[in-house]
Amino acid sequence: MCKWGTNTIVKLCKPKPVSGRTEIGVDSCIAPLVQALNDAGIATRACCCGHGKGLGDIMLEDGRELMIAQDYDTARKIEKMFYGRRKWLINLLMNLVQKGKTLTTH
Ligand SMILES: [Zn+2]
Repeated sequence: MCKWGTNTIVKLCKPKPVSGRTEIGVDSCIAPLVQALNDAGIATRACCCGHGKGLGDIMLEDGRELMIAQDYDTARKIEKMFYGRRKWLINLLMNLVQKGKTLTTH
């Protein structure tokens, strides 16, 4: 993970909606990932490597978000935290959210 402010210029596959910019500086350590997505026509909206303080993420234009763990062990810990025995429940909730349904409690 790079220090905050260590940027590398990435060429975007689509201009930014408001500014119209076609290039943007992103955290250098994830710049190759962001560039590869854009080169493949997958528009990115924002990103952060986490700077060693947390997870990195790459927000896609379509609303999805890629989370970046710093290594295999960290990824497995996160996976266990959110899935583990409750995987069926998490999947159910994710499906409801994706279908635009809301849960209410009484
Ligand atoms: Zn970084």
